Amino acid sequence: MANQQPGNHLHPESLLIHGGIDGDARTGAVSVPIYQTSTYRQAGLGENNGYEYSRTGNPTREALEKLIAELEEGTAGFAFASGMAAITAVLLLFRSGDKLLISSNVYGGTFRVLDKVFKPFGLAYEIVDTSSLGTVESRIDPTVKALLIESPANPLLTVTDIAAVSALAKKHHLLTIVDNTFMTPYLQRPLTLGADIVVHSATKYLGGHSDLVAGLAVVKDSVLAERLAFLQNATGGILEPFDSWLLIRGIKTLSVRLDRHLENAAFLATFLREHPAVKKVYYPGLPDFPGYDIQNGQARGAGAIISFVLDEQYDIRAFFKSVRLITLGESLGGVESLVCHPASMTHASIPYEIRRKVGIVDQLIRLSVGIENKQDIADDLQAAFRQALSAKTST
Ligand SMILES: *Cc1c(COP(=O)(O)O)cnc(C)c1O
Repeated sequence: MANQQPGNHLHPESLLIHGGIDGDARTGAVSVPIYQTSTYRQAGLGENNGYEYSRTGNPTREALEKLIAELEEGTAGFAFASGMAAITAVLLLFRSGDKLLISSNVYGGTFRVLDKVFKPFGLAYEIVDTSSLGTVESRIDPTVKALLIESPANPLLTVTDIAAVSALAKKHHLLTIVDNTFMTPYLQRPLTLGADIVVHSATKYLGGHSDLVAGLAVVKDSVLAERLAFLQNATGGILEPFDSWLLIRGIKTLSVRLDRHLENAAFLATFLREHPAVKKVYYPGLPDFPGYDIQNGQARGAGAIISFVLDEQYDIRAFFKSVRLITLGESLGGVESLVCHPASMTHASIPYEIRRKVGIVDQLIRLSVGIENKQDIADDLQAAFRQALSAKTST
């Protein structure tokens, strides 16, 4: 697959389209072919063209892995069957007796795999407020081997200073792992800020069309790259060729999609903040949001996830029943606007007490702003608020 390498001199918008392995050298096809094969003919013992078995290596997956490595400015990328498979492979880098410090609002599934799968094997975790550097430092002991952060974190959009936390981690010889799902490399590149490992649920913005489930991991260090390659092959949670192709296809339009996502989100954050139905808006693009300056310094935009607290005068069940254009559903990052109820959906696996402590209250709504017409989205919210108010006043 020796195709022309466009190299890193390209701007992100171009790299999204031409990065990794661009097209097919043999036929000139501009789209990377789907190599739907499990195995490869070997000319003789020990003679092959670089591929032996598709769990170990597949040209379509390889094109995607090279692409995400370039986009994140790492040296090696790995594609998995889901974000959780990618995170699981990364967690397998650690051993019994090790401890990880994790952001207080990490993705519910990340918390669940740590608590229910890895803890019984002896891998410990502790939840810390990674937006406070002093708190992180006070929790570091000899068993701590890594920090696992999301910034902005889900669903309260808490911003962590990735460069500062990575520097602190380096000082204590810890790895920094960043879940970059909410930002994508178009908006934020954690490896350039000092992080060691980036993980993605590519199911979200990278895929972008709510039509596949996929995960990615990227590293810079060659020893880490070798260990992750080993783990990917040994445990086998790989992304299949068709979904690898679909994800490459999604990534090509990431810049135009995200530019529109950002425009719509800025408009809707202001709309929500001014609306009497809304008690509080969480969005790192609002100038008085805590972490606004850090977000501006480390990312190209605030993303398109907005969380807000519905006033108690409004019935939350009626709100979710009443949205029409906006879909009630799990997930985020697709072209269509989605709302969810973190307390009973994405963060239900987090115990009630912890949820309340970190601010995931029952009136909290998370909106993944799509790329529809922004006024249509606002009108849909407005109509649902009206229904939610009359549901409450009529009971
Ligand atoms: C969705 C998500 C995951 C899990 O990814 P899957 O592709 O659903 O397995 C991990 N982290 C974040 C931030 C997510 O939003």
